[in-house]
Amino acid sequence: MSTPKIIITGGAGFIGANLVHYLVEHAPDVDVVVVDKLTYAGNKAYITDALALERVQFQQLDIADVGAMQRLFREFEPTGLLHLAAESHVDRSISGPAAFIESNIVGTFSLLEAARNFWLDGDRPGRFLHVSTDEVYGSLGPTGAFTEDTPYDPSSPYSASKAASDHLVRAYHRTYGLDAVITNCSNNFGPYQYPEKLIPVIIRNIRDQKPLPVYGDGKNVRDWLYVEDHCAALWAAFQHGQPGRAYNIGTENEFENIALVELLCDLVDEALGRSGARELITFVTDRPGHDRRYAIDPSRIREELGWAPRHSFEDAIAHTVRWYLNNFKPIWGV
Ligand code: NAD
Repeated sequence: MSTPKIIITGGAGFIGANLVHYLVEHAPDVDVVVVDKLTYAGNKAYITDALALERVQFQQLDIADVGAMQRLFREFEPTGLLHLAAESHVDRSISGPAAFIESNIVGTFSLLEAARNFWLDGDRPGRFLHVSTDEVYGSLGPTGAFTEDTPYDPSSPYSASKAASDHLVRAYHRTYGLDAVITNCSNNFGPYQYPEKLIPVIIRNIRDQKPLPVYGDGKNVRDWLYVEDHCAALWAAFQHGQPGRAYNIGTENEFENIALVELLCDLVDEALGRSGARELITFVTDRPGHDRRYAIDPSRIREELGWAPRHSFEDAIAHTVRWYLNNFKPIWGV
């Protein structure tokens, strides 16, 4: 059998870069081409070591350019695609939604078209794994968790654009028979997340002894997933997921935002030999349309694919704090 060739879109972003590292370590017989536009959130420095390998290539391309995606498929002849490229920051989707429509909806459509032409019209096997979010399901009350059957009810332009892309992927499976799998995960944390998202922002501001902005009353609940566990789940879903099926990915690890921020205060204080970071917490006006609570029921991926997280939250968050304190300056110069 010839070597599997996998395209990873968004492979220079946060989760994508972690996935590239994961595949370099855990899938040594796979060739990888990273496709990334290198927006403000993408950075080739996240994957420098991987790009030094002959079996990992990089293409700076916009996924919304359908002609470029068609050429990419013809040139590289992939046997699979893991699609992570997206505009991903909810606050940016509120101030400027256009890029979210273009990259998340048009971009996914153009990849689906390229996949349909190359794999289905060309009678070649190929699998499309679409990485999405639990935010497509909207907001939960104080109890319960999202299952794969929860109706879609997105609140922000970001989550609406992801919902639209999920629907397109599902439609290409049902209409054309594209071998597609969808994953919907909870909030990720870990290395290489652009320092505009909650965890790196809070760590950096504690380091700099600046105010720690917390939306509303701080009681919004998120279900935190360590990015390396997420990458293992993506690879399991790509390899063994059923065509046309969705898998929710989460670790039943719920935190109110305020509790997470307080934990980060204590961990950063400890790492820097200081105290008093909690005094920097500052409540700010809530985000419009802010979903109250997300929680994932991961039963399906656990039972059908045998996936389970390998890292404890305590170890993973402590590692993450140390990682950012050591890498803010070398990677982002901040
Ligand atoms: P990120 O913003 O860190 O990275 C996104 C990457 O996509 C960047 O490298 C960027 O350059 C690239 N990109 C954006 N638009 C592009 C385009 N038009 N063409 C080519 N490349 C483009 O995002 P992330 O946090 O790594 O998220 C990856 C995927 O996972 C996204 O689809 C996101 O919706 C999903 N997701 C993320 C989380 C999370 O907690 N981070 C949670 C659920 C789902």
